[in-house]
Amino acid sequence: MSAPIRTCVGCRSRREQSTLSRYVRDDAGVVRASRTDAGRGAWICTNSSVCLDKAFSTRGFDRAFASRSSNKNTNLRNRLTMAK
Ligand SMILES: [Zn+2]
Repeated sequence: MSAPIRTCVGCRSRREQSTLSRYVRDDAGVVRASRTDAGRGAWICTNSSVCLDKAFSTRGFDRAFASRSSNKNTNLRNRLTMAK
């Protein structure tokens, strides 16, 4: 049985889940580390502040938590279409 593989949303490398930390965004939009909280998770290399910074600067977190921002994108897309 092979270990589960996850992609770090910072450096985008695929690693064993045990070497990554899980982050979740709560209802208030606060991102925090948690392995047990419900909701969409994002995985970041454990103890890597570089990956954490990248996840914010490249909007990796936004992609990982896409359930909410996808609505925004849809609305923006509708507006752009109508503005023609
Ligand atoms: Zn990483």
